[in-house]
Amino acid sequence: MASATRSPSRTGRSQCPAQGRWPSGWKHPACATPTSTRRAVTVPSLGYGCGTCRYCLTGWETLCTAQQNTGYSVDGCFAEYFLANAGFATPVPAGIDPREAAPLTCAGVTTYKAVKVGNVRPGDLVLVSGVGGLGHLAVQYAKIFGGTVAAVDITDEKLKLAAELGADIVIDARTEEPADVLRQHGGADVAIGLAVDDRSFATAYAGLRRGGRLVLVALPAGGTLHIPVFDTVLNGTSVIGSIVGTRADLSAVFGLHAAGRTRVIYETRPLAEVNPAIDEVLHGKATARLVLEP
Ligand SMILES: [Zn+2]
Repeated sequence: MASATRSPSRTGRSQCPAQGRWPSGWKHPACATPTSTRRAVTVPSLGYGCGTCRYCLTGWETLCTAQQNTGYSVDGCFAEYFLANAGFATPVPAGIDPREAAPLTCAGVTTYKAVKVGNVRPGDLVLVSGVGGLGHLAVQYAKIFGGTVAAVDITDEKLKLAAELGADIVIDARTEEPADVLRQHGGADVAIGLAVDDRSFATAYAGLRRGGRLVLVALPAGGTLHIPVFDTVLNGTSVIGSIVGTRADLSAVFGLHAAGRTRVIYETRPLAEVNPAIDEVLHGKATARLVLEP
């Protein structure tokens, strides 16, 4: 999309050259605040919620049916400048590197929310299925919430990374059956499905203990999960979908990072190489989050 320019006036307020052309309620962030108080903000996937529906009013703005999603229903993201709703642009605390703020705004808040939705409590055995861009953060949040973490993956590098980030048990799904390993430990209280693979969800379900909670996060295209109704009823199993997080969740994620509680693994690529970068992700070659730099 075309980039907007700004021209500060003597009052320190921006005179946006495109004033009045933005959709109602939307502002070009750089034009929304006085020059002297400009500060870093981040714009998450949830780019807008109505603020008045039952979801928005009860802390579930991520379920708002009128929501707009950055890069999906709203143009932007892979650009130097883009429109954002000022109310959904979350401040980034001073001291947080923008290159770390970006993955925290998506992978961070999504996995933080999944751990919350799974109601992880101290001492719970938490399965993190997939130690990629999301999983490496999920391991850390599950530890922060007091869980004992079992991480599953299929590459040496990612299993090593999981251990470095605090995983108590690492399971190599190439050579071990994750559900068997989990049962040896009594079964998982919470399983967080982050791998884009239907089988990993079924395996996670099979590794739950009675009363266990399976939290679905990954989005395999056309993915399905077949679960036995009889066992689900008798075992009191919960299967829960978890989609991104709220602005309050994102603020909590930044607070934890500013306090030195989390590490973000990322590599940078120039914005001009966005298409090769996406290919890297699609072919599983990216070992971490890829951050595009203008
Ligand atoms: Zn709403």
